[in-house]
Amino acid sequence: MRNRLLEHYAYCPRQCALIHVEQSYEENVYTLRGNRDHRRADEPETELRDDGRVERALPLYSEELGLTGRADVVEFHDDAPFPIEYKHGEQRRHDSGRIQLCAQALCLEEMTGRAVSTGALYHTGSNRRQEVTFDPPLRADTREVIGAVRAQLREQRVPPPVNDDRCPPCSLQRVCMPDAVDAEHRQRREADRLFTAEE
Ligand code: SF4
Repeated sequence: MRNRLLEHYAYCPRQCALIHVEQSYEENVYTLRGNRDHRRADEPETELRDDGRVERALPLYSEELGLTGRADVVEFHDDAPFPIEYKHGEQRRHDSGRIQLCAQALCLEEMTGRAVSTGALYHTGSNRRQEVTFDPPLRADTREVIGAVRAQLREQRVPPPVNDDRCPPCSLQRVCMPDAVDAEHRQRREADRLFTAEE
């Protein structure tokens, strides 16, 4: 399982299923800008600095979690890894990148045997780093998402739409049709409820 799956699921389980179960993918202005912002971090490179080493596009794995992936940037200070994930635009309310970053930290801990307590999301719109602490709740959430994604892929399940403020910037709106599908789900739930009440 690749760690990008986790970000998709953490943002919206239906988005994850549409991409990874139904193989639907569409670009929009947000994904195109995101690809552009990732370009430098996509090229493998090692940079030696006075305060440590910087690896770009570093392959990651965790045998324990069954994860593979790639970190945009990992800084090593005294051999302690500090992962950094590039995010297009400014910090958002639905910041699914924290789960993805924490999964990278779990991979790095297994790969290096060193504790990884913090990392950062780098928001290209504001040129700012948002430090992320890999505390027990975030680690637990990340492991929960890993389990949920695995179940979704195994069961080939496509959940109903979230139909909230995550939808306008989502590139899959056209294939997802959150309004129409949500209305259909609500009607079906209402019909089930009436049917059960009359029994
Ligand atoms: S449009 Fe909304 S419900 Fe549909 S995949 Fe995107 S975020 Fe999820």
